[in-house]
Amino acid sequence: EEVKKLRADMQKKQNFEEATRSLADLLSKHYRDSDKAVQDDLYDACKRACSLLRSRYTGAKFWQAGKRLFETLLGVLEDETGRSKEVRGWIDMAKEEAEKSPEKEEAPPKQEAPASHQPQRMTLNDLLQSLITEVNVADLMHAVPIGDSSGPPPASRDARFNLDMKTVQDKDVVCAVCQEEFPVNGKAKMMPCGHPFHYDCLMEWLERKNSCPICRYSLPSEQVAFDLAEDLVRARDPTSS
Ligand SMILES: [Zn+2]
Ligand SMILES: [Zn+2]
Repeated sequence: EEVKKLRADMQKKQNFEEATRSLADLLSKHYRDSDKAVQDDLYDACKRACSLLRSRYTGAKFWQAGKRLFETLLGVLEDETGRSKEVRGWIDMAKEEAEKSPEKEEAPPKQEAPASHQPQRMTLNDLLQSLITEVNVADLMHAVPIGDSSGPPPASRDARFNLDMKTVQDKDVVCAVCQEEFPVNGKAKMMPCGHPFHYDCLMEWLERKNSCPICRYSLPSEQVAFDLAEDLVRARDPTSS
């Protein structure tokens, strides 16, 4: 019964080593005292293990497990019949396979490892995504120095899309881009400085400049946002380059 169960266990790759250990245990404890039928079962189970090794479990560790099993079997076989001879053949095969398999199996990962660890250039979006849990976009905007001297770059896409919409409740509020008054309860897109604009007016403006048309409050520009985000990612993960 136990032999049957072990034969079934051997069919599963993750159980193979354990099953061969148990089988070797059975061999050394009971083989000599068992009758012919049980001995045949045990021998067949070992033979089955050998054919599994040749067809499916070709890895070195499986052959190691097989080698231990076959050596145990050879130890309990008393006769110098065809069986001992056959088992010696299995052991030789296992020795050979256990030695040559490691290179075959481990060489490919060694070659691939450097390639897969190449740092890849992150996109701005990746960087901002990786920061989103820890850095509030508003903080990012306030961190940018006001009055950048290198001309007016466009505001970063993320900065533009993160601006709030607000309902205008006062009379006589004017969009500084088109000079039109907002209707009471009309919608305005708000700059962080608090100046209101029509959505379309402000989006068009920020595609060309990164500052408020009224007070010149600066949003992060595309380049500044990228550098800032990259620095923050580096500071958080010193191993990345
Ligand atoms: Zn407008
Ligand atoms: Zn403003």
